[in-house]
Amino acid sequence: MAGSKSTPKSSSIAAHSTSYSLLPKVDRVAAAVQLEHARKRLGTSVITQLSRIAVEAARTKIGAGAPCPSFDEIVSDVYTRAAASLASRARPVINATGVILHTNLGRAALSASAVSALAESAARYTSLEMDLATGKRGARAAFAEQSLARITGAEAALVVNNNAAAVMLALSALAFGKKVLVSRGELVEIGGGFRVPDVLARSGAVMVEVGTTNKTRLDDFARALDEGGVAVVLSVHQGNFRQVGFVERPEGAALVRLAHERGALAVHDLGGGALVDLSAFGLRGEPRVQESVSAGFDLVCFSTDKALGGPQGGVLAGTTAAVEKARRDPLARALRMGRLPLVALEATVAGYLEGDLDAIPTLAAIRTPIERVRARAADWREALVIRVPAAAEVITVTDLDVAVGGGTLAEEPLPSAGLSIGVHNANVLADKLRTGDPPVFVRVQDDRVLVDARTVLPGEDEALLAALQTALEA
Ligand SMILES: *Cc1c(COP(=O)(O)O)cnc(C)c1O
Repeated sequence: MAGSKSTPKSSSIAAHSTSYSLLPKVDRVAAAVQLEHARKRLGTSVITQLSRIAVEAARTKIGAGAPCPSFDEIVSDVYTRAAASLASRARPVINATGVILHTNLGRAALSASAVSALAESAARYTSLEMDLATGKRGARAAFAEQSLARITGAEAALVVNNNAAAVMLALSALAFGKKVLVSRGELVEIGGGFRVPDVLARSGAVMVEVGTTNKTRLDDFARALDEGGVAVVLSVHQGNFRQVGFVERPEGAALVRLAHERGALAVHDLGGGALVDLSAFGLRGEPRVQESVSAGFDLVCFSTDKALGGPQGGVLAGTTAAVEKARRDPLARALRMGRLPLVALEATVAGYLEGDLDAIPTLAAIRTPIERVRARAADWREALVIRVPAAAEVITVTDLDVAVGGGTLAEEPLPSAGLSIGVHNANVLADKLRTGDPPVFVRVQDDRVLVDARTVLPGEDEALLAALQTALEA
């Protein structure tokens, strides 16, 4: 300590410099025994970096007037940072949210045949761009593209990395430096930052807005087309929101006819186009790709990991002329689909050709009859009550609504069922489930935890029950 005559200020400075001198060396923190497991999984170099950050954070605290954190506190800070880094790694989770295609949970789960195709190809060489008959370079994705064209009724198709890429490529190929007409009612943001006006701008096309937010008529397009310089009329599916009331928009086929009469092309951003009619299962308003193709759009763009139920990908399906233009666009190489998603997509598409729709988990989830969903939830409750007798009082089986998700919004939600768990603090239980092993994602509504039985995959029942038991007992 400084002399008794020192002012309070200078004594605090002295205390500070003492505190600073108490800070441990980075290497000593990084070598702490408590960090051994983290060192094994993240490597010494990363743990040293995190230790430096933790020591710096302690120095900042001292600068703000706090005492020097203890060695154990600093090590614990490193541990927390290491744990956060490890937890950020993607891992399998149970989706009991009732959203079948949850973008934050990776959208579609793949079919068993897609998974085995992936496993077989991943560790080996693949005839990806090789024509086996001639031994010469072949077309990449030929099977997926030809099959998708056949299924949708299009002349040709091109697969790319996702639907955002498909839309960007379509506009770049057909409208670079030229005008693209789009209704003011369709200048939407899809989620994850996909904003139609921004994608349009980046594609090199010049956006021209027509009509109004709620009403856009054929006449509005006709007038804009008459001004000349229009390459494409773009129609965007309103996937994730709905306009009701005083609303008007032209029919697809009429819009295509008008565009063609005035020398322009027509592109449809369909979002998550389905390949099969799912209305018989209660899923209305999910447009099929076939409908857009037969309306005459030159290119129809859709995702392969929404209602199609495959890996991440995007498709441009349409006329041979338009598809070939897109294929030759310089962006096509940058936006192409990776080898592994491509192998999985080919297996998924083969599943459609074979007609075994329930082998595709997304379709199976949509097609499961409500009685079976209810029965599954009842089985869960019965099993839980045996394991956690107190659960009998807090868990009920209840009807729920399921959202399809992934930017697709059915006109009516699918009927579903699941467990409704009434606890003191539903959010705490939901947090426990999310941070458990495996992580379980549920919905919280009116202080109840809802566990939807339509979106939990077959074969996940035991893991779900064990996770629920652990969380309820804790
Ligand atoms: C989902 C969606 C997109 C983006 O598709 P990604 O495959 O996620 O890139 C674009 N447009 C519409 C209308 C969509 O619904």
